[in-house]
Amino acid sequence: MEIVRRQQLKEKPAKGTQLGFGHYFTDYMFTMKYTAEQGWHDAKVEPNEPKSFDLATSIFHYAQGIFEGMKAFRQPDGTIAVFRPDENWARMNRSATRMCIPNFPAELAEEGLETLLKLDADWIPTDPGTALYIRPTIVVTRVMLGVHASTEYLFFIILSPVGSYYAHGLEPTKLIVEDKYTRATIGGTGEAKCLGNYAASMKAGEEAEEKGFDQVLWLDANEKKYVEEVGSMNMFFVIGGEVVTPALVGSILPGITRKSCLQVLRDKGIPVTERRISIDEVLAAQKDGSLDEAFGTGTAAVISPVGLIRYKDVDYTIGGGKMGPITKMLYDTITGIQYGTAPDPYGWRKIVR
Ligand SMILES: *Cc1c(COP(=O)(O)O)cnc(C)c1O
Repeated sequence: MEIVRRQQLKEKPAKGTQLGFGHYFTDYMFTMKYTAEQGWHDAKVEPNEPKSFDLATSIFHYAQGIFEGMKAFRQPDGTIAVFRPDENWARMNRSATRMCIPNFPAELAEEGLETLLKLDADWIPTDPGTALYIRPTIVVTRVMLGVHASTEYLFFIILSPVGSYYAHGLEPTKLIVEDKYTRATIGGTGEAKCLGNYAASMKAGEEAEEKGFDQVLWLDANEKKYVEEVGSMNMFFVIGGEVVTPALVGSILPGITRKSCLQVLRDKGIPVTERRISIDEVLAAQKDGSLDEAFGTGTAAVISPVGLIRYKDVDYTIGGGKMGPITKMLYDTITGIQYGTAPDPYGWRKIVR
C-alpha cells in the first residue's frame, strides 16, 4: 500500500477534551479510485487535506453515494481493535449494489483501514467512552449532469476521535414519534446506508429538537402504525420479559450493533423476537406496566436507553426514566468486547497491530 507522508502532523485534541461527535479529523485518510477501464485502483494512504471538485460533479446533484460507520478502540495491551469490520464491508457492498455503485474488494478496504489506523494510532482517544470513529464513504466523481450511474468513483476513509454521540452521554434519550414525515419505504433505500436518506430525515429531526427531543422515532410509511427505527439507531423494547425488535422488512437499516445484541440475548437465553410491532402495542404495554425497557443500538451511540416517548402530544415515561437491566447488560457486554476489558467469545474484535 502506497503511503504519502505529511510534512507536519496536526495538533491533537488534549486528553480530557469533550470531543463530541465528528468535530476532529486525523492526519491521514485512505483513498482509492474506480474507473470502468481500471476497476478499483490507486489505493493509498495520504494526508487528510481538502480536495477540490468541479461543481458539476454528479455527487453534488444526485447524491449517488454511500457510507459506513465503525469504531476503533485502544486495548489494555496497547493494540487497536475494530469491531466487526467484515460486517461493515459486506453491508457497504450491499449498499453499493442498491445505488448502482461498483462493489469493491473488502480485503483492499481492510488493508487500507489497517494501514491508516497504524499511521493515525496516536489519535485514538483514551478517555472513558471515547473511540476513533471510522467513516468509509464512496461518492461518484464523474463531471456530468445526466441522471445515470457513472463509471467514476472515489472511495475514502476518514477518521474522527469521538466522545458520546448525545451531548448528555448515557442519560436516557427522549424520542418523539414522527407521524407526518417518513424516513423510508419498502422498495426505497432505507436498507442502504446511502447519503440521501439522512438529508431526507433532517426536517423531522429539526422539528423534534425544537420541541426538546433527541431524536425521531420513525413509523412505517404505509400505515404510520409500526415502529421502524430511530434513523441512526435500531430500536428494542422489553415487554413482560421478552425483548422485541422490529423485523428487517426492507425499510430498516440492518444494524451490526442490532445483530450483535440479538446474538448476545439469544446466547443468554433471554427470549427475543424480531417482528412487526405497532406503536399502539408499545404504548399499551407502557400503560399496563409491562413495558420494562426501551433502547436504541448503533455504532455511534452504542446502546442508548430511551427514557421517554412522545406520541400525539402525550408523553410516556419508560422504566422510570432510568437505564434498565437488559439495556445495561448489553451495554456492558458490547463495550467490554470493544474495549478489550471482557472476553470476546464471538471473535468480534479485529486486532490491528
Ligand atoms: C448506521 C445506522 C444504524 C446503526 O447501524 P450499526 O451497524 O449498528 O451502526 C441504524 N439506523 C440507521 C438508519 C443507520 O444509518
